Amino acid sequence: MKRGVRNPAPSNEQLAGGGLQRRVEALLARMTLEEKVGQLAQYSVGTPTGPGTGRSDYETLVRTGAVGSMFNVVGAQETNRYQRIAVEQSRLKIPLLFGFDVIHGYRTTMPIPLGMAASFDPALVEQAMHLAATEAAAEGIRWVFSPMVDIARDPRWGRVAEGSGEDPFLGAAMARAYVRGYQGPSLSESTSVAASVKHFAAYGGAEAGRDYNTVDMSEVSLRQTYLPPYQAAIEAGSATLMSAFNTLNGVPATANAHLLTDILRGEWGFNGFVVSDWTAVAELKNHGIALDGPSAALKALGAGVDMDMESHLYAPELPRLVREGKLSQAVVDEAVRRVLRVKFALGLFEHPYVDEKVAAYVATPEKRELARRLAEESIVLLENKGGVLPLSPGRKVALVGPLADAPVDMLGTWNGKGDPRDVVTLRAALEHRLRGTPGALRHARGTDVLSADSSGFAEAVAAARASDVVIAALGEDTNMSGEAASRTRIDLPGNQLQLLEALAATGKPVVLIVFSGRPLALTEPQRQVAALVQAWQPGIEAGPALANLLWGDVDFSARLPITFPRSLGQVPLYYNHLNTGRPAGQTDLTRPASNGVEKYVSRYLDERNTPLYPFGHGLSYTSFDFSPPQPSAPSLQARAVREQRGEVLRVKTQVRNAGARPGTVVAQLYLRILGTSTAQPVRQLVGFQRVTLAPGESRELEFPLGFQELSFFDARATRVVEPGTRYELWVGDSSEATRHASFTME
Ligand code: BGC
Repeated sequence: MKRGVRNPAPSNEQLAGGGLQRRVEALLARMTLEEKVGQLAQYSVGTPTGPGTGRSDYETLVRTGAVGSMFNVVGAQETNRYQRIAVEQSRLKIPLLFGFDVIHGYRTTMPIPLGMAASFDPALVEQAMHLAATEAAAEGIRWVFSPMVDIARDPRWGRVAEGSGEDPFLGAAMARAYVRGYQGPSLSESTSVAASVKHFAAYGGAEAGRDYNTVDMSEVSLRQTYLPPYQAAIEAGSATLMSAFNTLNGVPATANAHLLTDILRGEWGFNGFVVSDWTAVAELKNHGIALDGPSAALKALGAGVDMDMESHLYAPELPRLVREGKLSQAVVDEAVRRVLRVKFALGLFEHPYVDEKVAAYVATPEKRELARRLAEESIVLLENKGGVLPLSPGRKVALVGPLADAPVDMLGTWNGKGDPRDVVTLRAALEHRLRGTPGALRHARGTDVLSADSSGFAEAVAAARASDVVIAALGEDTNMSGEAASRTRIDLPGNQLQLLEALAATGKPVVLIVFSGRPLALTEPQRQVAALVQAWQPGIEAGPALANLLWGDVDFSARLPITFPRSLGQVPLYYNHLNTGRPAGQTDLTRPASNGVEKYVSRYLDERNTPLYPFGHGLSYTSFDFSPPQPSAPSLQARAVREQRGEVLRVKTQVRNAGARPGTVVAQLYLRILGTSTAQPVRQLVGFQRVTLAPGESRELEFPLGFQELSFFDARATRVVEPGTRYELWVGDSSEATRHASFTME
C-alpha cells in the first residue's frame, strides 16, 4: 500500500508554502541555463578533486554563479567571505548554502551516533543535536550531512559507528530526534540547520560488511527493516536527503528512480532536494551503468539526484545535454526549484551572513553537562560479576591500557571541529577523583592499540599487583571505524587480549572498558574480567562520565542498540530475524553430532546460535520487575486497524525497582505476529521508555500501538494487517524479555 505523508512536518510545509513558491518562480525565470545548473553543483573547498585547490578558482565559480553549495569551508570569516562574493558580486545574488559533516557534534563532541542510540533517549539526543546546529550555524554552516540512519547488522562495516544500530523502530525514533534537533521549530531560525538524512538507501546492507559494497535484498526486507528510519526523518521534515554509494538490487542508489522518485517523492511526499554522495555521480561509470560523464549526469538527474557533490559533472554536462535535446529543461528547472526552496526556507536571502565577532569556542559547563549526560546514558554495563561495580571509595586502582589517556580516540569518527584538547580522559578524571589519596591510582599504558610489542606488560602487571582493582581501557582507536574502515576481525586489536590475560592472572578483579565504534566479539575478554563496560567513543566528557558510572554516582542506563555476537562467524546476527523450520538445537562442543534427528537442526557445530549480548541488553546497579503486558483489548478488528489513524491498542505494564538503589531502566515492548501470509520476525521492538525509579518504587507504563506497529509487509511488499492472526507481546529489559501476553486480530 502506498502511504503518502499525511501530516507533513513543518519544514515540508515550509518548502511547499505559496509565498516561497512565488519567490522561487520569480527567481527561476531570471536565471540562465548555466546559472540554474550552477545551483546544482556542490564543491568541497580545498580537496584534491576540486576544480583547483586555490581560493581564486572557487571565488570565480562563486562570482559567476557556477556553484550553489560549498562544504568544508571552516569558520565564520571564510563562510562570510565566499558569501559576500555570491551575494554582492554574482549577477543574481543567490546566497551559497554551506554544508559540513556535523555528525555527533560540531565543536562539542558527543558520543558517536551508535553510542547515542544506546541511550534510548531521543529527547536528549535532540537537545544535543540542537546544540550542534547552533554551533555550526554560528559559523555560517546551515546544512549538515546527518543523520545517518542506515540500519546495520554487520559489525565488520566501519560505518555502524555512525548510525543507530540494527533496529528500525529505535532507528526511526533517533532519526526524528536528529532532524528535530537540527532543524528546530523553523528552518528560518538563525540557529537551525537543514538536515540531510543519509545514505538512501540500505547502504548499511553492504555485502560482507565491506564499505561501498553491493546490496541485494528483497523489497520486503528493504521496506520492513531498512526504510523506516529514512521515512521517519522525511516525516520529521528533513529538508534534504543524500543518496547512497551502493547498488541496490543492481541499480546504483544514485541512479535509482524507484528509490528517489517513486518512494521518496511519490509515496513519502518529499519536498526538499537530494544531494549525491561524494563523487557518486561519476562512480556510475565504475558501476558500469554509465559509459561516460554525460550519461552519468543524465542518469543521476533523471532518477532524482538534484545536486552533484564533487563529481564535477552536472555543471559542465547538463547545459550541453539540454541544448542537444537529450535532457528536458523542465527536469533541470525542477531540481533548481528544490534547491532554491531550501535556501529561501533557511532565510539565507534575508540573512546571508553571520557575526564574525563570535567569541572563541569554550566548552562551557552547560555544554559539558549535556555531553556528560549523553555519555553517561550511552555507556553500557554488559557484565558485573559478583557486583564488583560500583567501586567503593578507598579502593586502590590500577588504570591500564592504550585508551586510558587517549583524547583523540574519545572523539570517534567524523568529529567535526571537535578538539582533543577539550577531552577529559579517563586518566584525567580518575586523577581528579582520587586526588588527595596517595597511591590510590597507578597508571600504565601496557601496550598500544595495534601493537605486538609486550614490553609494557610488566609495568602494567606490577601496577595491578599493587592495587585492589584493575581498570583496563582497551579497544579500537578512532580510525578503526567510520567510512572505509571495515574490518575482517572484530576482536580486540593487537596484543590487547594478551595484556588482559596478564592482568587477570594477577588475581585482581579486572573491570574492562571497551572503546570501539562497533560491536567486538568479546567472548574471550568476557571470561577474563569481573566487569565489562561498552563505552563506544564517548566524546569530550568520556572520563567524567565513566568515573561517575564506575563509582555509582550515576546508574548505568544504556542498552545495546546492536547485537554483540560471540564470534565473527555468526555475523550477521540480529535479534529480529525470521525463524527457521528447524529447532535451534544445543551445541555441545565436546560431543560430535550424531546422525540422528538431533543432527539436522539449525546450528553451527562449533558455536551457539545465541549472541553474547542481545539487542536491548544492559545492566543497572539495581534490578527491575515487570508485570505481564496487558493489552487493552483481547482482540482487534483488522479493518478498524487499517482505517483508524493513531493508537488502536494500549499495552500496560507495571515496572518496579526491586533493588536497593535508585536506577533507570529502558522498558522495552516486543511483538511477534503469527499466522500471517509471510513469515515475521521472532520479535520486533514496538515501544520503549526510559524510567527512573527509587528503590521499591513502581510505575505503570503505557505503550500505544497503531497501524504502523501492528502491520507488516506481505509477499508483494504491501503493508497489511491480516485477520486470523495472533500477536504475541513481551515486555522487559532486553530483547530477551520474558513477561508475555497475546491478543488476536479478527
Ligand atoms: C560520505 C558522506 C559524507 C560525504 C561528505 C562521503 O564520503 O559517505 O557520509 O557526508 O562524504 O563529506
